[in-house]
Amino acid sequence: MHIPHTSKALYPQNIQRGFIRQVIHCATALLDPKCQLCSEACTYRSALCSACLMQLPHMPQCCPVCALPTPHGNHCGDCLRKPKPYQRTRCALLYENPVSYLMRSFKNHSQWDIGRMFCEQWLNQHQHQHQHQHQHQQNINGDLVTKPVTPVTPVTPVTPVTQAIIVPVPSHPKHSAKRGYTPSVVLAQHLSRSLNIPLQYALKANREPKQQKALCRKQRLQNLHNVFEAPYPIPQTIILVDDVVTSCATAIAASHALQKAGAKNIEVWAIARTPLT
Ligand SMILES: [Zn+2]
Ligand SMILES: [Zn+2]
Repeated sequence: MHIPHTSKALYPQNIQRGFIRQVIHCATALLDPKCQLCSEACTYRSALCSACLMQLPHMPQCCPVCALPTPHGNHCGDCLRKPKPYQRTRCALLYENPVSYLMRSFKNHSQWDIGRMFCEQWLNQHQHQHQHQHQHQQNINGDLVTKPVTPVTPVTPVTPVTQAIIVPVPSHPKHSAKRGYTPSVVLAQHLSRSLNIPLQYALKANREPKQQKALCRKQRLQNLHNVFEAPYPIPQTIILVDDVVTSCATAIAASHALQKAGAKNIEVWAIARTPLT
């Protein structure tokens, strides 16, 4: 599928500012690589020492649709009451300390090595399953379908082959300009390269929503109504990448915009999930 080059303009970034902050951070990390949590010496690329990596709070069993932790991995009450516009959410870590502290360092202080570490945690948790499904689907279709599927037997009609793309959730241009980068773009680029899935800058943030923190879930959904728009043609299968899933309001709003542009199968990939909505 043709991906419009101009679509990157939907994710405006202050390249110079982001680049300078990156260079300063990389030089410091190269000269004196230390664990971001305990200050023990570690390798330049790892961000955390192996002891701190092992203590990160990994996802317990959770609702397959929204990744809310549930007993035995059952669907949560919210997803049973009201289906989400996406089929699945995959997260790697619980959004509690020290993940919340590390996430702030990644998002607000240009610590991209933490973003890379987050992606590696995500890949460790999901890549094996992803590759198994990918290979299974390739055997049947001779092409790529990255959407997780129930096992397909040869007698079952095969669903149309669709090329999946990774789409990062955009930040409002004001925030991207202040940071010099968009955190979800950094994560999406790393996952796209690691899994060889094309990345498309398909969503645009039309307006700046109010701060979500003080709002209840219903208000968050209203606050994000029509914030996103997908102005270019997109394939039917989309992997939506974000940093943290909290109330699902962002994933729901972004999925509605993608559906309006023709998406049929949407999966949300995020680094971390809050334990409660
Ligand atoms: Zn450490
Ligand atoms: Zn759920």
